[in-house]
Amino acid sequence: MTAPATREQTLTRLKTENFDLVVIGGGITGAGIALDTAARGLSVALLEKHDFASGTSSKSTKLIHGGLRYLKQFEVALVREVGRERATVHRLAPHLVRPEKMLLPLVEDGSFGKIGTSLGLWVYDFLADVHGDDKRVMLSREETLEKEPLLRPDVLKGGGYYAEYRTDDARLTMENLKTARKHGAVIVNYVEAVDFDKNEDGKITAVHCRDLDKGEKISINCTSVISAAGPWVDELRKEDGSMTQTRLFLSKGVHIVVARERLPLRQAVYFDVPTDNRMIFAIPRLRSTYIGTTDTPYKGDSDNIPTTLDDVTYLLDAANAMFPTANLRVEDVESNWAGLRPLIYEEGKEGAEMSRKDEIFESESGLLSIAGGKLTGYRKMAERIVDRLADRLEDSGTDLPEARTEEIELTGGPFKNFAAVLTYEKEVAERLAAADLPPERADYLVANYGRQTDEIVAAAADRPGNGYEKLAAAEAAFCIENELALYPMDFLNRRSGRLYFDLPSIPRVLNAVVDVFAETYGYDADERAQQIRICEAEVAERTEFGMAEV
Ligand code: FAD
Repeated sequence: MTAPATREQTLTRLKTENFDLVVIGGGITGAGIALDTAARGLSVALLEKHDFASGTSSKSTKLIHGGLRYLKQFEVALVREVGRERATVHRLAPHLVRPEKMLLPLVEDGSFGKIGTSLGLWVYDFLADVHGDDKRVMLSREETLEKEPLLRPDVLKGGGYYAEYRTDDARLTMENLKTARKHGAVIVNYVEAVDFDKNEDGKITAVHCRDLDKGEKISINCTSVISAAGPWVDELRKEDGSMTQTRLFLSKGVHIVVARERLPLRQAVYFDVPTDNRMIFAIPRLRSTYIGTTDTPYKGDSDNIPTTLDDVTYLLDAANAMFPTANLRVEDVESNWAGLRPLIYEEGKEGAEMSRKDEIFESESGLLSIAGGKLTGYRKMAERIVDRLADRLEDSGTDLPEARTEEIELTGGPFKNFAAVLTYEKEVAERLAAADLPPERADYLVANYGRQTDEIVAAAADRPGNGYEKLAAAEAAFCIENELALYPMDFLNRRSGRLYFDLPSIPRVLNAVVDVFAETYGYDADERAQQIRICEAEVAERTEFGMAEV
């Protein structure tokens, strides 16, 4: 079936079937809930108002980490849970959640001393149950410089070296959604939940939505609703009439990207910002290095979050202070992203001090909402809220089985372990070279798509253009067919990560990519030109920074 026919069929199902559960929000939290509930046997529909992962879940630091910083705030339970989850999520998708050693340089007047760091990292490893070679090591000044020669030598005293994982947040969301779909969930993007139908007891019986692609109104009948709308959770609680004193506090986080050759780090570094006692990351990734994040209160439009020149300058100054020979300037910034942390408001605390714990809100109407938390903890967050739903269903005589996502490998696998991923990556590079396609894309393809790379490489031969265009076109076609990419930007941003990590490649493959969308969705010349303009405007926006927010 073609992609437009699949979407039509999905919309018909939403209009005609009665679902046990509607999940609002296609970020990592909603995706985790859809998989958890579908695997427990519920009929589930998931709605996303924009593209999947277009909210916070494509704008994180992209680490599957325990959050070392939270130890300082004595968030022991949180660090323990997400610390342990790292290994689980890695096991479920080793191609996508990859080991990444982190270097924490100890500097004069820094926030961590040698003994404090050694103890802190030991506790971190202990809580997360880290074993063997992954256990933290304390390094001398010389050993630290050997790991990362770009560090500022005159203030360096040594370093801590410990294990984390990195991922692509949007792809992790997508693979959870695809796995949920394999278990029967119905998922759709560009459909916004607008309000609710309630019966005479005030209980929700349907979700009224708008198909933002065609503008059509849809009503979805359901027994239960979970809102996983991230920064928009309070908007839906207001619509439901169930706002309480506990509310969200939105904190903006910006990352900037420079070409790898401008900051050629050997490895990821977690370092001090000298001006305000915060810590940020600099992480090499493919042909780029990204730096972040900021953490500032935000009250503007959640659908349009600006990166200001102040944000960029703050990150550049911090990076230049730690890696002075790089001498980074605003002109070096190739791309950026700004996301919102939906934190749970705590009286008298600033954003950075507020807890990263998740919170569940229950309403008289039956609406369950969940916000806060971490990308890393998505599976446990899903389990918690679905257990809450299970308690309610039990009251009405339905027994839900226990969560079983701990054993469900995500699409893109299976891989026995990370060594198997690397072996497969080698095979892919050989196959690419034999087919006259660029072998250096193997690393990217396998990290993004896992074993689904086979399908993309096989299809690339039949596409027109040079090797890069052939591969990009085959990749776009795969994402249209399997990942509900509706517009070219869905592919260039959230499916492939090019907008952030390989922006200069976009002009080279844009026509090839838009042609695939034009073929599938029947664009006329005007629509094709319009889609090209939208992509070009997005690319330009990545290096246009507004003035400071007032
Ligand atoms: P979102 O991803 O925002 O998803 C909510 C979705 O709901 C959105 O896509 C939105 O479009 C949709 N929606 C809203 N209203 C409606 C509606 N009415 N109808 C339909 N759909 C709707 N965590 C980590 O573990 N590691 C990190 O490295 C890390 N770094 C971070 C860095 C930054 C700067 C930020 C901001 C967060 C970071 N986090 C990190 C936290 C993590 O990114 C978030 O906890 C997580 O992405 C939140 O996911 P979510 O699904 O709850 O929200």
